[in-house]
Amino acid sequence: MAPETTADESGIDARTLAGTPVGGPDGSAACDTCNRRLSDGQRRADAPDTDADTVVVYATRARQSDTWALRWVSCESCGSPGGDDALESGEAVAKATLGYDARIGAFALEDVRDIEVSS
Ligand SMILES: [Zn+2]
Repeated sequence: MAPETTADESGIDARTLAGTPVGGPDGSAACDTCNRRLSDGQRRADAPDTDADTVVVYATRARQSDTWALRWVSCESCGSPGGDDALESGEAVAKATLGYDARIGAFALEDVRDIEVSS
């Protein structure tokens, strides 16, 4: 296995991605791979016992910048858009839970974890 850059060295960590908006207004979001509806489990259309969805996010960093942009959001069953391919420079994948951010009126990433990154 190639040595992985740590999240610290690459400038990405859970705080970088936490709060990143996902989907459209009023909590509408879909898996970018299979188009399944994603939810925090609290939307009107959700069954009462629906759990917040775990999502897999793919982010890239602009060249010579510390800014990470969200490029892809998948449901947990679809997983990372690149499958098991090794990450290329400036790419990161992470897991997160979908939460509703009332301030922006949309879903946002919460509990970001399992960040894999290649600088
Ligand atoms: Zn999916």
